[in-house]
Order: sequence, then C-alpha cells, then structure tokens
Amino acid sequence: MSAPLIEPNIISVALDVPLDRTFDYLNAGFQVQVGQRVVVPFAGRQLVGVVLAIHQQSEVPVDKLKTVMHVFDDIALDTQTYQLLKFCAAYYHYPLGQMLISALPLRLRQIKPAVSRKTFVYSYAKPIPPERIQKRQIVLQRIVTALTVQHSLSEQQLSEVATGWRKWVQPLIEEGFIQAQEVIAIRPSVPSSHQAPTLNAEQQHATQAVLAAPKQFKPWLLYGITGSGKTEVYIQLLANILAEEHAQALVLVPEINLTPQLEARFRSRLSQYPLVTLHSNLSESERLQNWLAAKSGAAKIVIGTRLSVFTPMPHLKLMVMDEEHDGSYKQQEGMRYHARDVAMVRAKQLNIPIVLGSATPSLETWYNATTSNTTTQPEKKQSYGLLTLTQRAVTQAQLPKIFCIDSAKSPLENGLSPLLIEAMRKRLARGEQSLLFINRRGYAPVLHCSACLWHSSCTRCSAKLVVHLSQRRLKCHHCGHEQKIPLQCPSCGNADLKPIGQATQRLSQTLESLFPTARIARVDRDSMRSKDALTTLLSKVHAGEIDILVGTQMLAKGHDFPNLTLVGVIDTDTALYSPDFRASERLFSQLMQVSGRAGRAAVAGEVLIQTAFPQHDLFHALRAQDYAAYANTLLQERIAMQLPPSRFFVLLKAEASDYQQVQQFLNSAAAYARQHANEVTLYDPVRPQMERLKGLERAYVLLQAEKRQTLQRLLHVWVPQLRAHPLSSKIRWALDIDPLEF
Ligand code: ADP
Ligand code: ZN
Ligand code: ZN
Repeated sequence: MSAPLIEPNIISVALDVPLDRTFDYLNAGFQVQVGQRVVVPFAGRQLVGVVLAIHQQSEVPVDKLKTVMHVFDDIALDTQTYQLLKFCAAYYHYPLGQMLISALPLRLRQIKPAVSRKTFVYSYAKPIPPERIQKRQIVLQRIVTALTVQHSLSEQQLSEVATGWRKWVQPLIEEGFIQAQEVIAIRPSVPSSHQAPTLNAEQQHATQAVLAAPKQFKPWLLYGITGSGKTEVYIQLLANILAEEHAQALVLVPEINLTPQLEARFRSRLSQYPLVTLHSNLSESERLQNWLAAKSGAAKIVIGTRLSVFTPMPHLKLMVMDEEHDGSYKQQEGMRYHARDVAMVRAKQLNIPIVLGSATPSLETWYNATTSNTTTQPEKKQSYGLLTLTQRAVTQAQLPKIFCIDSAKSPLENGLSPLLIEAMRKRLARGEQSLLFINRRGYAPVLHCSACLWHSSCTRCSAKLVVHLSQRRLKCHHCGHEQKIPLQCPSCGNADLKPIGQATQRLSQTLESLFPTARIARVDRDSMRSKDALTTLLSKVHAGEIDILVGTQMLAKGHDFPNLTLVGVIDTDTALYSPDFRASERLFSQLMQVSGRAGRAAVAGEVLIQTAFPQHDLFHALRAQDYAAYANTLLQERIAMQLPPSRFFVLLKAEASDYQQVQQFLNSAAAYARQHANEVTLYDPVRPQMERLKGLERAYVLLQAEKRQTLQRLLHVWVPQLRAHPLSSKIRWALDIDPLEF
C-alpha cells in the first residue's frame, strides 16, 4: 500500500464492558477502518473491541492514551448492523459496547484468530506465457489445461486434477498469474421430489398482498391455525423475493432444534438458494461459518432463533417471523430485547416487508393488526396488514374436537379421569397414538408431610422442591439446588411423606401400570438432555413405534404426527387464575398449539381437557377454536385495566442478599423518577411472585405510560441517576423495557 498514513491516528473502540461509552486508543501505524476488530489493553487485560470512529483528537491527553495491540483484517461490523444495534442499545438502555460485541459470534469475540474453514477458488489473473511451463512439468500442464477449460477451480477440483497441486500453484500466485479467491462453504440443499402445492385462494391473497409492495416497510400478520398453510405462504414469498439478484431473506423461528422439519422443508423447496441456520445447537465454528456466509451475501436464506435478528445481511429484502407470539423471542437477561420489536425496527430501517405468522398472535400484534390506529396510538406510523387463513390447507385434514372434562364431577385417579383413560384405551385398540400434555417435569411438584403440613421448599428461592423419584432427589427448578429425599419429615420426624400432584414421570408411571403393553415415551427436559434424543424419538413416533407420548410444551410445537388422534391435557388450572396478567394469553396459545397436534391427517382428532373450570371463557373460546373472540375479550380487559398492549411498561428490577439495600435503592429510584414522571404512572416498589431467587431478595418498580417516547424521555435522565447511585454497584439491578414477565 503506497498512501502514507496520517499519524497519530486516534481510534474510538467499543468494548464489552458495562460502561456506556467508547474508549480512545492510539493507532500505532496500522491501517484501520471503522467496523474492524482490534485488540487493546484495558484495565490490565487485553480485550477485543470494535472500531467505531477514527479521529485526530481525543478528550484524553495523547500521552495518556494506550496503543492498539493488534488489528484483525475483517470488517466485523457493517453500517447497517451498526445502525440497528445502536438503536437497540439506546432503546433498551444497554451499554453499546456490550451490545455490539455480544451480537458477534463467540469466535470473533476472542483474541486468538478466528479460524473459519476458509476455502478458495483459483482462476487466471493474467495469461501464463508458454515458456513459463516446461515440457517435463506434466502436473503443471494438467493444472493449466484444467484452468483454461473451466476458468476457475475449487480446491477439491484441483485435488482431483493433481494431488500435489499446491506446490505448483503457489509460485504462480506469487508471480501474479493465478489469483485465489476465498469462498464460504455452505451446506448444499437437496431439491425435493414433491411438487409444490397450488396455493388456495386465501394463501394466494396473502402472498399477493405482501408482494404487491415488496420494497417498502410494511408489517403483516399472517393469522391462521396450525396446518392452515402459513409455511407454504412463507416459502412462496421467499421464492418470489429471492428470484431477484442480490436478495436475502431472514426467517426467525422460536427454537429450531424443536422443529427440524421446518428447516428441511425450506431446504428442499428452495434448494437453489444457499441456506444457513443460526441457533444455539451449532458448534462455534459452524456458527461463525454460517454468520460469515450471511454477512458476505452468499447465504440467501438465514433461518435462525432470537439472536439471529442481528445477523448482518447486506441484501436483506424480507423478514418472516414464525410463531411470533412465542415467549422465547424475548431475551430475559443481559440486553432484554424482544426479537419481534427489533425485527420491526430493522424492517423499517431497511424499508422492507415483515411477515409475522401465528395461530394465536400475541395481543401486542393482534392489537396492531385489528385496532384502528388513530385513537389509541397516534404515534404509530404504520398499521399492520391482517392476512387470514381460515381452514386447514389439506382438505381432508379435519379440525380436532375439543371437550372439557369437569374434574369436579368426574373424580381423578392418579391425576387421570376415567373418561380420558377410556379414550386412550380406544386409541390403543385402534392402533392410533395419544399424547398427554402436562407442563411439569419431575415426579411430583412437592413432597408433603400430612402430620405437620411441612412441604419441601428451596432455601434459596421462593419455590417448592420438586420430587425426582428415580434419582431419589428433591430439586429446585429455579436455582439448580438438589438434595436427597428425606426419609422422615425434617420438621416433625413423621416417616410418612407423600409426593403431591402430578408431573411427567409420575404420569408415565401411572400409564405404564394402566396399559402394561403400550409403548410409552416421556418428553421433557430431563429425558431429552442429549442433542439428538428428541429427533430420535420423533422418528420413532413417525414410524409408529410409540403408542403414548407424555410430555411438556416441548411436544406442543410444530411436530406433525399423522397418526395421533387424541390429546389429553392435565392440570393447567393454576394458569387460569395466575396473578400474571399474561398467563391466560399464554395458556390459550399453548392449548391451541397442543390441540393442533391431533388429527392432522384424515382421522379426526379429539382433545380432552381436564379442568375444574369448564365454564371459563378461555375454554369456551378454545372449544370453538376461536382465538379472535378470546383475544378481543382479553384486549378489552387490558385496555380497561391500562395494561399492555394499550400501555407500555418499564420494569426496574433489583436484587441483593440484603433486602434493605434493595428497598433503599428502589425507593430512591422511585423518588428520582417522580421528579420527571410527566405522563408516566409510577408504582411503588413491590415484590414479584418469586420473592427470593438464588439466594437473592428481589423487588421491582414499575413505570407505565401511553407512549414509548414518554418512557424513553424519563429513562434518558433516570438511567444516569441510577448508575450514579451509591448502591448501584453493590446490588444487582437491571432495566426491562417492555417486560414479558414480572
Ligand atoms: P402451517 O405452517 O400453517 O402449520 P403448513 O404450511 O405447514 O401450515 O401446511 C400444512 C400442510 O398442508 C402441509 O403438509 C402442507 O404441505 C400442506 N399444504 C399447505 N398448503 C397447501 C395447498 N395449497 N394445497 C395442498 N396442501 C397444502
Ligand atoms: Zn412433619
Ligand atoms: Zn432454588
């Protein structure tokens, strides 16, 4: 490089430290660009940072500045991604440096060079003069001939021409005759032999509506029950958008390892477009490779979970978010972002359409798609388009019939009503499959002493210790604490301790004694620890090697079981009357989803729900499979009670082993906020349902306002005050903007 460097250059670097600022360093003659990664000294350590600006001056005297130690070649952060991350850091009031670094693949956050499996293709840079090749250099002649015929050769192709090709090609590169170009390896997709189905009228309408304005920001809600053909619509949209040169699409999914079928379907139907996935089940090197493929534009389709909403994609033209209501899109620690909201911002920044799909949309989305936006939310600039699919796409696939079993009238035996047992017996006799849904793992939720009413509880959390009988242990599902099952009551010495209530293991055991010949499988986090356990089990279910499945919500999602005709729902009543205002919304969507497992093929399915409250609104709507009716009821309640989505929330959470410090911090936080609380409703500090967690006492302050901007204005002055509070570094506190859980 010939241009002389202007020195001294000062570069501002974002670092993964909990301080909301960048740090200046001297550049010791490196050629540096914005977005590049560097290694710098920081507080006695060496850290990887990202260059955000280059200038000639610093507020710090130049002789106090330290010097950059190393500069990596790659530009890790492009402008587009930077804009998005910067917005998020500001909106979620999270340190920009931490935000930027945590969005990078782990390998790029480490000091040692990130070794991705680089591969190259070789082609002519200029013609090789004939005298350069001698007569006896047969190998070289073969290589040159192959290059002339094929124009460019991959490493693999060169190896086929000659095993020792490297030693011949290297000198030619050095002499400038041959050039090597890096390519990113992407696993090829295999085309499907199935014909694409012809879209029905509703699907066609949905596809056309989105494609009518492909180059402007527009959010769409694609609302349709399981099996109504939403995925088919996504595929058609991608096929259309990707047909253009330089186009990429991002498909967000809740948990990809639970839905391997989805990836397979996109791969086979859109096999001409290189596809990569990004999720937590990848190795770090795979993750880096896939991320680089997306960033280079080589991958046309990215299917990924929450964090992949930040994946750099230079030609992004469409975003799809499947199961948009799913809680896993919300990050619950660190930067507590919601991928749906971030995706919305990204779509707006890029001026592209975004499609949210669900059978049971979140009330936030439902509100945006169904309420006229002039009265309640004048700030809103773009209302959502609502696209509805009303029927199952495969005509012979019938909707399941949903019934409640009144557990007050039909007494349960070991958690099961005789009606449900009878229904299962019928399925077994017909060779059909059943699924029992219970959202609790372990053997029983609690161990109880009938003499003194002692029950097993965690000393570190406000939670019960769950009985895990096979391991003879009591476990806390919140902090991981475990201990042996006591032989007698720790409080009164009574030897007659009983597990109370139902959970997956106990239910499986009951079923084994009821149906000794049936093949029963349990699906929960305990039984599905290994990476492939679920996949193996699912293929067994498909092969008809399982008669009864017992499982948690792990089973509720996406799986297509054609021979499954009965779903039994055990013990969901606690969620009906939970203090969490979102509990019934979540329960409804969970039950819809699990009901959707029954009767996906020609045989009609049946769903039996055991409940003491069969007359509850939720069950009325569920039996009618009418999400819209229930959503509208809930929405009216939320509006009347000034709850989201008609209002916005910010939660300041604090925790410490000393509850007094928590109180002190929150009281002064509330006092500060009151000074600026213009149009913001401020609630006094309260304790969450889980008062103690992992040995820490918890409490929070809730702020509520009609508009996001109002809250942001307050946060702008409030957060610096919180950071400067004397207790700020002594206790743990965090802001949760738009919290999902309390
Ligand atoms: P969803 O994503 O809403 O659950 P899918 O797109 O997976 O629905 O569709 C459910 C089933 O119906 C799939 O097996 C799919 O191949 C099939 N299907 C979807 N659309 C059509 C159509 N227009 N004609 C025939 N079959 C269809
Ligand atoms: Zn006792
Ligand atoms: Zn605990």
